[in-house]
Amino acid sequence: MIENDEKKCDINPPVGGGGADYLIIGQGICGTMLSWFLKKENKSFIILDDDREHTASKVAAGIINPVTGRRYVSSWMTEELTSFALQSYKELGVYLNSEFIFQKDIIDIFPSAQMRDAFVNRIAENNTFLHTYPNQNDFNPIFNYDFGCGRIAPAYLVHIQLMLASWRKELFNLNAIRQTTFEVSKLKVSEEGVTYEDINAKKIIFCDGISSMQNEWFQLLPFSAVKGEALIIECNDMPHNFIFKKGFMMAPHSVENHFWVGSDYQWKFEDAAPSEAFYKKATAHLKHWLKVPFNILFHQAAIRPATIERRPFVGFHPLYSNVGILNGMGTKGTSLAPYFAHQLVQHLVYDFPIMEEASVQRFSRTLSK
Ligand SMILES: Cc1cc2nc3c(=O)[nH]c(=O)nc-3n(C[C@H](O)[C@H](O)[C@H](O)COP(=O)(O)OP(=O)(O)OC[C@H]3O[C@@H](n4cnc5c(N)ncnc54)[C@H](O)[C@@H]3O)c2cc1C
Repeated sequence: MIENDEKKCDINPPVGGGGADYLIIGQGICGTMLSWFLKKENKSFIILDDDREHTASKVAAGIINPVTGRRYVSSWMTEELTSFALQSYKELGVYLNSEFIFQKDIIDIFPSAQMRDAFVNRIAENNTFLHTYPNQNDFNPIFNYDFGCGRIAPAYLVHIQLMLASWRKELFNLNAIRQTTFEVSKLKVSEEGVTYEDINAKKIIFCDGISSMQNEWFQLLPFSAVKGEALIIECNDMPHNFIFKKGFMMAPHSVENHFWVGSDYQWKFEDAAPSEAFYKKATAHLKHWLKVPFNILFHQAAIRPATIERRPFVGFHPLYSNVGILNGMGTKGTSLAPYFAHQLVQHLVYDFPIMEEASVQRFSRTLSK
């Protein structure tokens, strides 16, 4: 069990320049969860993060959906990952005097009779996350829909941007973060540890999202960058108690009456900027779907650090035992990051093994070239 009253055991050793156990690059969801579990183990660390604007974690909706794809297949390890994520986000919320995770079931508004039939068939096959929705006309005042709706439950929403910002503030209080761009030319790696400017640490761990695709230690890993875009809209008549889905997802944002609408999956793209094509498609979709008025506030895009075989990259380089990575969370950073950050910390502190399917050791041969 993870304890909830972390603040009471205020025994984190001082961090900052000079000596630290770990040097972490990046404070997205991976760097955040890794540093949180290190703190719980009273290990010292220093994070370097450049606070760039459109990272995957800053653009993500933060949805934890127990099913995947058009066939509603249960997501990989969904029960184990979700219950661990739930506990972790609650606990971090208690520590930071805030609340980051909420159960928000998904109302799946069927776009076609075929999709409705697929949903109903999966219920008949005993998929425990899919449920009929009793009052089919409940959402008639808000949405245009002809084929009914179902409920995907339990699903969760993490206010990921709020959480990252709150933890960042605490990291500054702890003198455990520097807002700077990491430059590999300044890093010295030896068998004893790593040195970066005035920082000496035992190990460095890269949590730098898509930057790891250019990283000289890990660039040979089978990454697959996937661009995604989203709109933030304002809508005063939209209920906050569900996530709605019809082609796009619509999830309540941490700001009242603001909703996240997205996303898409682009494997081929020219740059990371928001595209006109997505804007047009999403706007047309919303105009057709919503009966209530809305305003588009922002249009965002980011590149997901996904992997070809859809499993994360966790652990240490086979030739450089002081160089590690926590990455490759793809489309599911919200559910995967807490579990695998915790596993990496357990490995560091107690030498516990990292799950084979996620360990970078599965690419030992590739990384040893
Ligand atoms: C549109 C969209 C929607 C999504 N929706 C969901 C969702 O609903 N649910 C879900 O589970 N997942 C979702 N995802 C996926 C999820 O966002 C990612 O899996 C996750 O955010 C990856 O986190 P990360 O920490 O690995 O990387 P990042 O979030 O990219 O963090 C990397 C950090 O490293 C820093 N950094 C990078 N290079 C350097 C450097 N050289 N020096 C200093 N700092 C550096 C960056 O500033 C950043 O803070 C979505 C992604 C997108 C793009």
